[in-house]
Amino acid sequence: MTTYTRLEADDLELIIGTLKEFTDRNAPWARRIEWDEHDTCPADVVREMLSPEVGLHLPFLPAEYGGMGGGAYDIYRLSCEFAQIDLGLATSMLAVALGTDPIRVGCTEAQKQQWLTRIAGEGLIVAYAVTEPEAGSDVQNLQTVARPIADENGRVTHYSITGMKQFISNGSIGDLYTVLAKAPGGPSFFIVERGTPGLTPGKHEVKHGIRLSDTAQVLLEDVVVPADQLIGEKEGEGLKQANEVFGFTRLMVAAFGLGAGLAALSRAIAYSMQRRAMGTLLCEKQGYTHKLLVPHSVRLAAARAYIEHVADLLDSGNKDRQVEGAIAKIFATESGNLAADDAVQALGGYGYCVEFEVEKIRRDARILRIYEGTSEILQNIVGLYRMRESVRSKGRFYGAMAEQVEPFENAGGPAVARVARLLSETLSVLFHKKLAQQQHALFECATSVVEVETAVALVRAAGISGDPLLQAQSRVHASDVALSVPVRLAKLFSGAGVEPPPIDFAALLAYQSGRLADLDFIARAITLGI
Ligand SMILES: Cc1cc2nc3c(=O)[nH]c(=O)nc-3n(C[C@H](O)[C@H](O)[C@H](O)COP(=O)(O)OP(=O)(O)OC[C@H]3O[C@@H](n4cnc5c(N)ncnc54)[C@H](O)[C@@H]3O)c2cc1C
Repeated sequence: MTTYTRLEADDLELIIGTLKEFTDRNAPWARRIEWDEHDTCPADVVREMLSPEVGLHLPFLPAEYGGMGGGAYDIYRLSCEFAQIDLGLATSMLAVALGTDPIRVGCTEAQKQQWLTRIAGEGLIVAYAVTEPEAGSDVQNLQTVARPIADENGRVTHYSITGMKQFISNGSIGDLYTVLAKAPGGPSFFIVERGTPGLTPGKHEVKHGIRLSDTAQVLLEDVVVPADQLIGEKEGEGLKQANEVFGFTRLMVAAFGLGAGLAALSRAIAYSMQRRAMGTLLCEKQGYTHKLLVPHSVRLAAARAYIEHVADLLDSGNKDRQVEGAIAKIFATESGNLAADDAVQALGGYGYCVEFEVEKIRRDARILRIYEGTSEILQNIVGLYRMRESVRSKGRFYGAMAEQVEPFENAGGPAVARVARLLSETLSVLFHKKLAQQQHALFECATSVVEVETAVALVRAAGISGDPLLQAQSRVHASDVALSVPVRLAKLFSGAGVEPPPIDFAALLAYQSGRLADLDFIARAITLGI
């Protein structure tokens, strides 16, 4: 059994230090913007990133096969740091981790010894080849087939794979591909090495953002692989293997969202502290700070708290966390995008120019809402699963969260507790009135679930921490959620002509008390540090 434990704090800092040193030396801003301008993937830099001297892929690989066996917390921290430097390069790393995952979770011991050891030691560039022209979100519509080839005794010795893969990260530079194909027993992953006859990597796609990350089609024409390159040596396990790692991989993309948001916000804050307009610094203008800086510092604090909560769950052995992974990804990537968009605004005309970096961060961050499960597909998952869980528990699921956060008055706990209970009642009515069969209703619930659960995580973290800034951020997030969730749900019910559960708007408005003072405090704290 593969083991994952958190790295020692010093070791993690050492790896983050290596990452920064490596990118400063090999991928400084001037080079990255040139690659971006010319739509070029620096394959040599990606390869060196995986070399024995640098080994940035090793925390993702189990220790028993030559990796460092980092846990979810380590993966989150490393991903967040990488995203603050460059999302394109970070995506190449994500693809190596993604491509390795089916091997990590699905292979037999002998297969793991063979392939994971090679990935760790040789630094193979791995690509995860699942998406097809007609099968993106709808992966069930997979058209690539794996035809078994049997010997004279009827024993399957090889498979012949034929199909087309679309939008594959590291697709044209990969050494190893994990390819999902339809075998007679169902969708299955196969390991295919570069150079296998019939495998033709396509050309690097020209994209809106992460332009230096290689994205390409991969054509497979009668690609013959030995039967022991079927992952797990059992057909029909592919979708199960993919599902098993969603908690980890979506956490990684959520960390990218957080990192991109932090990178954008830090540039906006720096600009506001040196730019004068009409006699004062921008950071002293309340309209500017409370619109363009403070809301993002609040959302990103909530994103971080939720990501750390999911990392804790995963590291304590809760492997099947695909709903939490989905919540983390939706919230952190949407928040990162909002922060990046407002950072362009915060820098005015400079923000719109390439040289000031936020323009690229904004373009790069846009992919995070699309790959590794679009926001909409994830909303579907979150809405459906949380409704079932809440109804099945007869309200105890959100009831328990409410009880946990209610005592933290200094972090907006009572507001979040009230909204969590309202959400619970709403999910029950939606279910019993069969309104949940409408996808719009499910999406509105999912948005509310995401807001409530991230607020719960932030209240818990802030309440325990005693940090005045985090507590103010938590109170503001709680006051936002206290109104946004009830208003959204009331609109949904009224629009569908269904009686909503009772909503006490006067009580909810009371939670707005002190909000302006909190916004002022956060603005000062994140700019002037007071
Ligand atoms: C830069 C980049 C890198 C990528 N890297 C990889 C990789 O390494 N490996 C890999 O296998 N794939 C990769 N992908 C593919 C990516 O995962 C898919 O693009 C994504 O899953 C969406 O699929 P699609 O593009 O076919 O869009 P579609 O599935 O056609 O979706 C289009 C829109 O419809 C919405 N939609 C779809 N179904 C539903 C539904 N049931 N209900 C409501 N709304 C719905 C979607 O949310 C989206 O907004 C990459 C894509 C890009 C752009």
